[in-house]
Amino acid sequence: MADSAQAIEVSNLHKRFGPLEVLKGVSLTARQGDVVAIIGGSGSGKSTFLRCINMLELPTAGTVTIHGEEIAMKKDGHGGLMPADRRQVQRLRSQLGMVFQSFNLWQHMTVLQNVIEVPVHVLKIPKDKAIATAETLLKRVGLFEKRDAYPAFLSGGQQQRAAIARALAIQPLVMLFDEPTSALDPELVGEVLSVIGDLAREKRTMILVTHEMKFAREVSNHVVFLHNGMIEEQGPPEAIFGAPKSERLKKFISSIH
Ligand code: ADP
Ligand code: MG
Repeated sequence: MADSAQAIEVSNLHKRFGPLEVLKGVSLTARQGDVVAIIGGSGSGKSTFLRCINMLELPTAGTVTIHGEEIAMKKDGHGGLMPADRRQVQRLRSQLGMVFQSFNLWQHMTVLQNVIEVPVHVLKIPKDKAIATAETLLKRVGLFEKRDAYPAFLSGGQQQRAAIARALAIQPLVMLFDEPTSALDPELVGEVLSVIGDLAREKRTMILVTHEMKFAREVSNHVVFLHNGMIEEQGPPEAIFGAPKSERLKKFISSIH
């Protein structure tokens, strides 16, 4: 049922890479303003799950609904699924801002050019307007002075903050973060978490894969523990971190510290 307060609904998602079943029926609902943290060991399927939400990976079965609109899929003839309407995928994807572990900035463009590229060339926003928005966003992430710098001249933390500004520039309904600090030197983690924390406190809807447990506990209102492609346990952060039930989750939490 269409529910406009529902930002993302994933239902019974399966993903298989050849013989390997990576997601085995994962369901998740994020309402507007939710900050959902996804935790779990390496290889548990966290990245694949995020990538299926914006169709960077095609699910083998299950549905993804964005803002009440289900992504229409059809059989691909090889036991998998493919989008029934590519334009729908493009349109819905433009409501999702994605920030990856590796910063993925376009190296041949300045910070400002990175931030205005999609707004100007894909969303057809007038350039002067896109620049004004980009400058506001760069101020928010503390990078206004670096707007004409090329990514190679920035620290990892600055590059990741630029990547966040770029993702915000499309005015997404939901932000998806995949371990945004795990490629950073330890002393640069804080500046990136601080930007993401501000977004969370503004009640921006987000799904965040992270190894930063203290941060996940602080900013999220729902935590999902993935194990072996399934949700092993989920709940509010106080319950997940303060009173975990599953032995696997207990073991995972104690292994992180
Ligand atoms: P996580 O992000 O939790 O570490 P991933 O979603 O990256 O886990 O990976 C889950 C499993 O899927 C791993 O075993 C990984 O090797 C496998 N996998 C991920 N992407 C691919 C791919 N494109 N082709 C084959 N196997 C993949
Ligand atoms: Mg991953």
